[in-house]
Amino acid sequence: MLEAMRPEILFPLFAPVTGIDGIGPRLAKLVDKVAGPRIVDLLWHLPTGVIDRTMAPDLASAAPGGVVTATVAIDEHRKPHNKRQPYRIACHDRGALLTLVYFHANEDYLARLLPAGETRVVSGRLERYGDDLQMVHPDHVVAPADRDSLPRIEPVYPLTDGLTPKVLRKAVAGALERLGPLPEWLDPAHLAQRGWPAWRDAVKAVHSPENRRDLERDAPPRERLAFDELLANQLALALVRASQKRTKGRAVAGGGALRRAVERSLPFSLTPSQRTAIGEILGDMAGEDRMLRLLQGDVGSGKTLVALMAMLNAVEAGRQAALLAPTELLARQHHATLNRAAAEAGVEIALLTGRDKGKAREAKLDALAGGAARLVVGTHALIQEDVAFRDLAFVAIDEQHRFGVHQRLALTAKGRGVHVLVMTATPIPRTLQMTAFGDLDVSQLTEKPAGRKPVATRAMPLDRLDEVARAVGRATAKGDRVYWICPLVEDSEDSDLAAAEERHKALSLVFGDRVGLIHGRMKGPDRDDVMERFVTGGLDILVATTVIEVGVDVPDATIVVVEHAERFGLAQLHQLRGRVGRGDRPSSCLLLYARPLGETARSRIDILRRSEDGFVIAEEDLKLRGAGELLGARQSGLPQFRVADVVERPDLLAAARDDARLILSRDPALAGERGKALRILLYLFERDAAVRLLRSG
Ligand code: ADP
Ligand code: MG
Repeated sequence: MLEAMRPEILFPLFAPVTGIDGIGPRLAKLVDKVAGPRIVDLLWHLPTGVIDRTMAPDLASAAPGGVVTATVAIDEHRKPHNKRQPYRIACHDRGALLTLVYFHANEDYLARLLPAGETRVVSGRLERYGDDLQMVHPDHVVAPADRDSLPRIEPVYPLTDGLTPKVLRKAVAGALERLGPLPEWLDPAHLAQRGWPAWRDAVKAVHSPENRRDLERDAPPRERLAFDELLANQLALALVRASQKRTKGRAVAGGGALRRAVERSLPFSLTPSQRTAIGEILGDMAGEDRMLRLLQGDVGSGKTLVALMAMLNAVEAGRQAALLAPTELLARQHHATLNRAAAEAGVEIALLTGRDKGKAREAKLDALAGGAARLVVGTHALIQEDVAFRDLAFVAIDEQHRFGVHQRLALTAKGRGVHVLVMTATPIPRTLQMTAFGDLDVSQLTEKPAGRKPVATRAMPLDRLDEVARAVGRATAKGDRVYWICPLVEDSEDSDLAAAEERHKALSLVFGDRVGLIHGRMKGPDRDDVMERFVTGGLDILVATTVIEVGVDVPDATIVVVEHAERFGLAQLHQLRGRVGRGDRPSSCLLLYARPLGETARSRIDILRRSEDGFVIAEEDLKLRGAGELLGARQSGLPQFRVADVVERPDLLAAARDDARLILSRDPALAGERGKALRILLYLFERDAAVRLLRSG
């Protein structure tokens, strides 16, 4: 169905790469690995280097290290004495000798390619080997008559094992052949002012760089494609926003009775920034516009309570509210803590997860649809089609990066004019927020609740594990509770599990049945059971995989041990450490690392020891990883761009945002000439859902 809506003019670009001559299923797999499965993916696979073959000096004066094109006479083939030695071919030009070197050579082939006594043009990297000049596996060999067939300049692409430059270049050339002109979606005056080429010319140009300068981000063709991508992003977001605005928000202003009751019952007082955030949210909800607000606060800053207050506000106004959590574990935990708090106000909170089945589930759905259930906490199960509300007015989305825009929209579509609060512990710079949400308002929790003690962070080599275990033993004897996080094994949940099970066994030998194990593969009820025992003190030590990474809140836990800390990212370590230090008791975090510790891992651990501030850590992370990889786009739920780099070019993003605004103010239905071209742009960057909003709207 999605396929059917794509405009025909784009069909050739979305065809599989196997449509290109010479790219069969085997090569397509390799192309897929570096670029993607479709022709369009090849277009976005940009060269990272350029080889200039125009340097054709006499060898005597050539500088070794560079690529040269030389015309040489072939003197003699020197076969190797054994398989490990290379095959050598002696040649010369006017003033110097050159040896061509081939490993694993095919003799017949070389005899035909480079016949002794003849002249050939060879192009490749010139190297000095002792006193000799040599060229290992020339890139090109042609007869002098065919000299013109040599490429003057060649782009260099990122490759993968088994994929040769030649094959990839051929694939890209094949993709470029399918490139028809597309109607121009940019404003002609803007194009002229920037000096940008038309889209098709830009795509061709980025794949035929002439020099290093052409590879830079601000080379006009690259810049244009980046702008196109950002414009598609901003336009899609603006369309979502516009469609939401079309259904007005409804003012939700409760009387405050429930909120006051809950606040009175809390064993602590709200932090100033919690108060401010609640004020901002209530202010938004009382207005006619639909709220879309981001609540940003470091781990442990108390975001859940802020969400609860907003939920209660909806209930006070006679409406319903929902809190969406990314995991079953988290949904259950939120349900338990919120229920405890809300009980004081006489409000009950429902829980809906994938585990609800049959009659019990139906009863819950009835309660939501009929309005008997005012507040609900749940997982993705809340988004399912048959879940309906009587009058949903507010939705909070916890750990928002775990959800996509469409999931947010699916949930808010269950009410009318729903106000939305998205929550995150990951500090996202303003520019990047813009790519994920467009313009949105932000509330920040800037301080931790009073009374929190800093978490003492120590690093230790893994070979001191016994010592750590003894320290853990002493701590649990005093009533401390401990998370023991097991190593992450890349790409393999099974081996994660094996490591955790083994650690659990080993610790159980020492500490008996006070050690629990929790991991992602466990059945839900078993996991609840273990968690419950840890929360209530039936277990002293909880051996866990990273399932506990987000959101888990057990205030009595005071120690977190992380095995193979060097395998975790900085943000992840910060999240894991954030599981402790939630109560008023001193807490500690032990980072166990394998020797030798690499430089990046050492820096990460150092940063954690120096700071507990999520914003500082995120900034340091950025420096460590380099701008391109900020936060790990996947991890943060930010959109990933093929051509654009928003960190490097925030100005281009801002320009795209302004352009998107202007476009929609003039042609909100994208119905005009340029509007139609912009629809093609949206499809080109696969913002199909945004175009659908136009149709339905
Ligand atoms: P996060 O922002 O990481 O989601 P939580 O909402 O899980 O943090 O809150 C962390 C812990 O802090 C919870 O146990 C919560 O009850 C507690 N808490 C929240 N607000 C305050 C406060 N103002 N003073 C003391 N403790 C608080
Ligand atoms: Mg949380």
